[in-house]
Amino acid sequence: MSELADLCNQVQVCQKCILSQGRTNAVPGQGPEDADIMFIGEGPGFHEDRQGIPFVGAAGNYLNELLAKINLQREDVYITNVVKCRPPGNRDPQPQEIEACRPYLDEQIALIHPRLIVTLGRFSMQRYFPGASISRIHGQPKRVGNVIYYPMFHPAAALHQPRWRSLLEEDILKIPDLLAKLDEIEEEESEIPQAEQLSLF
Ligand code: SF4
Repeated sequence: MSELADLCNQVQVCQKCILSQGRTNAVPGQGPEDADIMFIGEGPGFHEDRQGIPFVGAAGNYLNELLAKINLQREDVYITNVVKCRPPGNRDPQPQEIEACRPYLDEQIALIHPRLIVTLGRFSMQRYFPGASISRIHGQPKRVGNVIYYPMFHPAAALHQPRWRSLLEEDILKIPDLLAKLDEIEEEESEIPQAEQLSLF
């Protein structure tokens, strides 16, 4: 069994926070273990809790539509949430719940090594853009080393807000260019030591 599969098994029996008490299924995440792109949402909703799979309700269908706009399918990306168990009544996850669940997300990122981390909604955005307002920074990437962090609106919120919906659709279209830019930067940087070596002769 892979380390990621083992981690998902640990999530399924986790009781580290109160959200374990109301769940039908924990929802660890889904996607390839070497995905280039990871989407991080907020927490499972009703359908996700029933099925144990992230983003399967209306928001999930919409996310699939968004992916199709950039020629991607669900199978191409890894999808997870900041909390792996459904908050009752779909309330916001509490800080102590996010904190309790944080090691699982940290470990998923460490094992998958995504090149692009897309935060969906304000709870996952806070991990990388603390104190920021999503309406101000959505669609503005931040590169740290070889990883790009990219904040977008949550599809569930955008479904009910036509303005956010159009912004979300604009933002997703920038993803292919972000990855291409990262390729270019990595290529340029990989040439620097070579250039230095050559200058020695
Ligand atoms: S939300 Fe995370 S920390 Fe809380 S019980 Fe579920 S898996 Fe464990």
